[in-house]
Amino acid sequence: MPQGGNRTFVRFQDCLRLAASATLLAAGGNTKHMKIHEYQAKEILRKYNVPVPGGEMAITLEEADTAAKSLFAAGNAVVVVKAQIHAGGRGKGGGVKVVKTLNDANAASKAILGMQLVTHQTGAAGQKVQRLLIEEGSAIERELYLGLVLDRASAKVVFMASQAGGMEIEEVAAKDPEAIYKEYIDPAVGFQPYQARKLAFKLGLKTTQINDAVKFMTGLYKAFIDTDSTLMEINPFITTKDDKLLALDCKINFDDNAMFRHKDLKELRDLAEEDPLEVEASKYALNYIKLDGNIACMVNGAGLAMATMDIIEYAGGSAANFLDVGGGANQEQIENAFGILLSDPNVKAIFINIFGGILRVDVLAQGVVNAAKKLNVQIPIILRLEGTNVEEGRKILKDSGLNFLVGSTMKEAADMAVAAAKGGK
Ligand code: GDP
Ligand code: MN
Repeated sequence: MPQGGNRTFVRFQDCLRLAASATLLAAGGNTKHMKIHEYQAKEILRKYNVPVPGGEMAITLEEADTAAKSLFAAGNAVVVVKAQIHAGGRGKGGGVKVVKTLNDANAASKAILGMQLVTHQTGAAGQKVQRLLIEEGSAIERELYLGLVLDRASAKVVFMASQAGGMEIEEVAAKDPEAIYKEYIDPAVGFQPYQARKLAFKLGLKTTQINDAVKFMTGLYKAFIDTDSTLMEINPFITTKDDKLLALDCKINFDDNAMFRHKDLKELRDLAEEDPLEVEASKYALNYIKLDGNIACMVNGAGLAMATMDIIEYAGGSAANFLDVGGGANQEQIENAFGILLSDPNVKAIFINIFGGILRVDVLAQGVVNAAKKLNVQIPIILRLEGTNVEEGRKILKDSGLNFLVGSTMKEAADMAVAAAKGGK
């Protein structure tokens, strides 16, 4: 996962999975990014007249079989069976198969549907494939790359194009950044045809393809803006042997904060693809992101939550999650939050870092005591508390009969949490 470097290429959808808050802030603070499947993304492109291969989504082998049959019957010499998961790199992991007979199509569907697909984006455990896309095969001439992303440094949408399509663009960005051409888009005037032509020429497209390329890119830009996307990638963007342009793959992320005005897009969410703890947290309106460390964090405010993750790293530990309980958290929220933190088997210590402003420290402390008793928490709880009614809060903890560890500064508390997670006290 790219950390730092050219921030344009930070995978924004993963931004909260990066530990360092500098990167987080550069990549857009706590913006969450709703992901969808390739087949859904292609459906959106179709509405904007961006050419994509015809195909059908299938959730059973029977559906896959029917779809493949009708594609062959329609005269396609080649059919492609594609795993639908919310992660890229499926081709390399065996999740994309190009077949020429119905038998091979069936065999491919059987192999892919239900498999635990491991790619560089899924982690070692992989992701279970629960949907397939059965698609018309394309006669590829060249594999290129197109991408749109919100660049926070310039505060503009940037349109990227590269001849190095079909491979990981992060790798290209790291090894050969010159191979990625960029057009920054002035929000007042939008994406201009001359910009599309510039990119098309850089891609080395034939003169007969330039007009189609301009239409293609203009359609992408319009879809990006209309849907409040934060990222759109066509990789590969192909030219075919008969000179056509096609989006062979498509990935779109949306800005979670804008989904209230896109009810139709919100319905595209596939909870089976999301982390179960994150899904649970979203039910309680908790801003929770699971991470890989072993120190659970409960913090109020996104900025403080990021600072907490940083100070844990600084103290030599690693955070198990990002969790912002919000300014107005009540008893119930705190209990829910505890429940979620404790469901993560990696967690060895809980670090509660609260600055009581709207949320009074005594209310928080009482909530923590109640939750710890109710849920019979066995792992060490370390607190750093400041703000309104902090003395009352400390007294509640002390009088609870439970064994809380209280640090007087953030660093001291972080050191205590790291020591506790390592097994000391
Ligand atoms: P990803 O690996 O998750 O990015 O999945 P893609 O949809 O990008 O597919 C991976 C690769 O499979 C592409 O880069 C192509 O090389 C190949 N591929 C996908 N569809 C077709 C097709 O219709 N015809 C051919 N010949 N190859 C395809
Ligand atoms: Mn791809």
